[in-house]
Amino acid sequence: MASNTNGGRTALITGGAGFIGSHLAESLLDKGYRVTIIDNLSTGRIENIAHLTENPSFHFAVDDITSDVVMDRLVSECDVIFHMAAAVGVQLIVNDPVHVIETNVLGTHAVLKAANRYRKKVLIASTSEIYGKSENVPFGEDDDRLLGPTTKARWSYSTSKAVDEFLGLAYHQQLGLPIVIFRLFNTVGPRQTGQYGMVVPRFAQQAIDGDPITVYGDGKQTRCFCDVRDTVRAIVALSESQDAIGRVFNIGSTEEISITDLAKLVLRQAGRSTDMTKESIRFVPYELAYGSDFEDMRRRVPDTSRIQGALGWQPEFTLETTIGNVIASLRQRHAVASG
Ligand code: UDP
Repeated sequence: MASNTNGGRTALITGGAGFIGSHLAESLLDKGYRVTIIDNLSTGRIENIAHLTENPSFHFAVDDITSDVVMDRLVSECDVIFHMAAAVGVQLIVNDPVHVIETNVLGTHAVLKAANRYRKKVLIASTSEIYGKSENVPFGEDDDRLLGPTTKARWSYSTSKAVDEFLGLAYHQQLGLPIVIFRLFNTVGPRQTGQYGMVVPRFAQQAIDGDPITVYGDGKQTRCFCDVRDTVRAIVALSESQDAIGRVFNIGSTEEISITDLAKLVLRQAGRSTDMTKESIRFVPYELAYGSDFEDMRRRVPDTSRIQGALGWQPEFTLETTIGNVIASLRQRHAVASG
């Protein structure tokens, strides 16, 4: 596979069959890139990219990013790498921390080693979990981090991604490799699965099924949810910006909403009653959801002035629109599955 034929650039997306990776693949193809994805389908799904497989500019390797021979070939053939492969999701982190730590740390190490061999630019997906339980919102990229003890599994994810960031920045500073790091705050849209804990697809599924929405804790904790289309637009723009190299960027919405209000919004968008009866909303203690040693963040809000200043980026989609899209796409999937 020669790069730069037809004037197009070749992007390699690790974790390209995942929720965000698959939207990124779609967007890059639309922009005229050739896109190769590598995904071991541990959390990614073939259905996420089924609609792309007919496209002659799209290639798919079902493999692990730690398999040196495959990565060596794919990296040698691409112009830019989007490293999206990671083990994410609070449920997964709590249930299988060995897998999470090994995937994130060893996977990123493998990608950077291969990238450095061919001197290829790498965009590394990181996370708002980096900030831990700091209450100093909004979180700026250079802010201090506040993490719980190593005996609480949740913090292993934050730490594993911090190692990824340190390693990426070290490859840049010490070896001159072009690296960009972006920290994704809560991102939502069609194809996200609730299987690993993510709140919006779980609420949307419960709303469609006529089940009560399960709000963990008191529901007063807040998050900001960014539409995956806005997220992907930011990632692509960062990849094309010379000024972004060697820097860290937050990507997220700054529209803060409590989880109880999110539950009501999902119910409303699904055409269900938003009264606070237990048929509509059920409050579940954290211990029942995640076990006794779980710590949640009360608020999580990004400071997005850096990416706004560098690229003029800001989100365009409202949360209402995004939730409406998520519900419509779930209903469509059900109709196809049962039709
Ligand atoms: N949450 C909830 N019900 C669920 C799943 C999650 O109330 O069925 C809560 C969760 O405790 C957290 C928020 O929703 O306070 C966002 O959870 P998610 O796992 O999506 O993201 P993160 O905690 O990483 O921001």
